[in-house]
Amino acid sequence: MTNKNLKKEIIRKCRELQIPLVGFAPVDRWENPPEELPNKFNEWIPEEFWPQSIFPEAKTVIVIGLPVQLPIVETAPSIYYHELYNTVNAALDAKAYEISNFLTSKGYPSIYLPRDGYGDIEVLLEKPLTFFSHRHAAYLAGLGSFGLSNVLLTLEYGPRVRFTSIFTTAEIEGDPIKGEDLCTRCLACYNHCPVNAVKREGEFPPPVDKISCALRSKELRKECRSPCGICIKVCPVGEDRKVWGREDVSIYDENKTPHKYRRAWEHVRRYGSKK
Ligand code: SF4
Ligand code: SF4
Repeated sequence: MTNKNLKKEIIRKCRELQIPLVGFAPVDRWENPPEELPNKFNEWIPEEFWPQSIFPEAKTVIVIGLPVQLPIVETAPSIYYHELYNTVNAALDAKAYEISNFLTSKGYPSIYLPRDGYGDIEVLLEKPLTFFSHRHAAYLAGLGSFGLSNVLLTLEYGPRVRFTSIFTTAEIEGDPIKGEDLCTRCLACYNHCPVNAVKREGEFPPPVDKISCALRSKELRKECRSPCGICIKVCPVGEDRKVWGREDVSIYDENKTPHKYRRAWEHVRRYGSKK
């Protein structure tokens, strides 16, 4: 099967699996990032985190993304968003596992990566990195650009999308990099972060204070309503805002929230978690 036909077949498989976002990044993009990428980094991904370091036979990384439904993340922090987060993660794992087996059965040995590669928040507090970054993989597959809060912004869903990856031995043409910096620098994520983990100084995108963010997550987990989700809720980027009729992000300002939304969010937050 030619490279192009295989790529078409993988895209068809993703459609069957109801996966709206899929991107392809040859592994050499980790070593030689394309010039047209929208963000520049002072420190690039260390070599031990590259796909070819983790699975030396890997030739291409396939990145898949599933949306986080906006009206649910609007209730965050809540048990509702907590459950959605787990559901999306489990769906990503299952779909990536299926795609990797599909490719292996076609003669291209492939492995999936777990959506969340850490055992507990305590582990993140000691070492706030996982062994592979799906956000960077999505970036190198041309799916979006980094935002101020270090999320990956996509045209379709802004930051309200979760990714995982598949390492395959198949050599597949990479997707074009659109090169568009989607972050408007509106500072909504900076202004709404409850622990000042989002920074605005220095080169863009400045590193987020991962420890403060993980500590917040730890507190919320004790209350059965982690993760936080606030920076992805308030970001104005994403076509999904039109789908849900939520183009006006001022609804997240304390004194501007329409009664119908305040009542809904407060109701959900009142049940099923400790606060
Ligand atoms: S997840 Fe919450 S704590 Fe972490 S950066 Fe976003 S708003 Fe701040
Ligand atoms: S909320 Fe504004 S500043 Fe933050 S990532 Fe989104 S567009 Fe960028």
